[in-house]
Amino acid sequence: MKVFVTGGAGYIGSITVERLLDAGHQVVVFDNLERGHREAVDERARFIQGDLRFPDGVAKAVRAAKPEAVMHFAAYALVGESMERPELYFGNNLYGGLNLLEAMRAAGVRKLVFSSTCATYGFPARVPITEDTPQQPVNPYGESKLLFERVCSWYEKIYGIETAFLRYFNAAGATEKYGEDHEPETHLIPNVLRVALGRSRKIRVFGHDYNTPDGTCIRDYVHISDLAEAHILALENRCTGAFNLGNGRGWSVREVIAAARAVTGRAIPEEQAPRRAGDPDRLIASADRASKELGWIPKVNDIQAIVESAWKWHRAHPNGYA
Ligand code: UDP
Repeated sequence: MKVFVTGGAGYIGSITVERLLDAGHQVVVFDNLERGHREAVDERARFIQGDLRFPDGVAKAVRAAKPEAVMHFAAYALVGESMERPELYFGNNLYGGLNLLEAMRAAGVRKLVFSSTCATYGFPARVPITEDTPQQPVNPYGESKLLFERVCSWYEKIYGIETAFLRYFNAAGATEKYGEDHEPETHLIPNVLRVALGRSRKIRVFGHDYNTPDGTCIRDYVHISDLAEAHILALENRCTGAFNLGNGRGWSVREVIAAARAVTGRAIPEEQAPRRAGDPDRLIASADRASKELGWIPKVNDIQAIVESAWKWHRAHPNGYA
C-alpha cells in the first residue's frame, strides 16, 4: 500500500515508517521537523516538510501523494506543556488533524490509523483499563486527542473514512537505528539513562506517597517496535475502533530505575521530588481487544529488555540525532 505518514520524523513515527518499508509498503512522510528529526526518516521514504496547521499545504501534499491510507502521528505530546499552553494542543492536535481529514476527504482516502493515548482516560476508576472505560481527560493533551477521536468517528459515519484509534500507554525503548530524542526530555526512561551517561547528576522521582506498593507511580511501558507492529496490523487488516496498546502489566518508577541500574551497571543516584501535576497512581492497559482483533502480542514484555534497547541507542547517540 502507499501510506502517507504524518509525524514520520518523530519517535514512534520513524520506527513505524521503517517497519512499513520493510513490510513492502511505499511511504510518504509529512513532518514539520519542529520536534522530529530529518535523520530519523528512513531514506527509502519520500519526505515532505510541512505543517498540518496550513490546510492548503496538507491538501496539496495528500493530493500529490495519492495514498491508500494515512497514519497520523504528528502531534504535541507533553502533558505539562499542555497545561501551560493549551492553544498549542488544540491548534495542532485538533485543528491540524481536521485539516488532515479534510485533505483525505478531498483526495478520496478512506483509511486512517491514528495515534491516540491512554491520557484520554484521565484518572481511571479501575485498572487494567479497557477501551470502554469512560474517557475523562484531565489535561488539554488528553482532551485534544479525545476530541480528534470524536471528529474521526463522525467522519467515519458521514464520509466513510475508516479509523483505528491506537491508544498507546507508555511508549519506550529503541530499535538499532531509531530512538527517543526530545528537547526538553521529560520522560522517565531517557531521563534515567541521562544520569547513567553522566549527563545529569540525579534522577528526580516525582512523588513517593502514591497508593502503590513502593509509593511511586506505576505505568505500562510498551516497546516502540511492538507499537509499530500494531500499526501495520491495523492497516493491513483494515481494523477500526479503539485499541489499547500496552503490555498489560505495570512497573513503578523505582522498578524502572532498578532495571536501569541492572542494565547499565551504573549507580544512578535519585532524589525525591514533589508530585508532578496530573499523574494518576497507576495506568495499566487491558490489550485484550488488540490481541483478539489485531492478533497483536507484544514481543518485548519485560522492563529490563525495554530499558536495555534504549540504553544501547543512547550510548550510541549520546547527543541524540544531533
Ligand atoms: N517521572 C519521574 N521522573 C522523571 C520523569 C518521569 O519520576 O524525570 C515519573 C512520572 O511522574 C510518571 C512516570 O515517571 O509517574 C512516567 O512518566 P513519563 O513522563 O515517562 O510518562 P507519562 O506517564 O507522563 O506519559
